[in-house]
Amino acid sequence: MRIDRFMSLRLSINRRDVKRLLAQKRITIDGVIAEDTQQVIDEFSHVVFDGRELQANTPRYIMMHKPIGVVSATKDQQHQTVIDLLSTSQREGLHIVGRLDLNSSGLLLLTNDSRWSKRLMAPDKEIAKVYRVTLEHPLTEEYIPAFAKGMYFEYEDITTRPAKLNIISEYVAEVSLVEGRYHQIKRMFGRFRNPVLALHRTSIGGLSLDTSLLPGASRSLSGEEVDNIF
Ligand code: URA
Repeated sequence: MRIDRFMSLRLSINRRDVKRLLAQKRITIDGVIAEDTQQVIDEFSHVVFDGRELQANTPRYIMMHKPIGVVSATKDQQHQTVIDLLSTSQREGLHIVGRLDLNSSGLLLLTNDSRWSKRLMAPDKEIAKVYRVTLEHPLTEEYIPAFAKGMYFEYEDITTRPAKLNIISEYVAEVSLVEGRYHQIKRMFGRFRNPVLALHRTSIGGLSLDTSLLPGASRSLSGEEVDNIF
């Protein structure tokens, strides 16, 4: 990536401003003052601006409170995407870790660290994702063993992994899954002809949605949160 693009994304400034910073000799690349807007940097480049390090490939980890009506994708023709909810300087190189449906809400993770996201999503790691689900019809005890046993999904020709279902109240359940099949929770309740009215992800592994984040808001994870999620 060219240094002017990198700096404009990182600092949310336009390229003319980057040119000015270069002329003022405030940026160094690998210890050498940068002057050329077209100089190319890579993930190993060491970029310093006014004494502050801006490594090209600093790993970033973001938790978002995904609102209903926003797509878990980086691009979409019809709807606003979760990436659109981030500032331009945050967007670069991020991918989504475990999507939520358009009409689902809750904890969504974004990162540029594909090793971390692969580890999180690896089936053998069995990292639990917990959802609060509101149903149209009352819940009954018979749901619990059916979720625990697993359900056969003909389209994929798989049986779902054991899922935990806690009945919180007549119409509200907490469901814990260790996988993420297409519309999985809606399809599981569909077996009981019980439509899901609301679906909200509250946690992934050891990480819970920060309740101070309003729908659409996001924040970076602390180093501890990045590690303790496993
Ligand atoms: N299961 C669903 O049906 N939808 C989601 O968004 C997540 C899990």
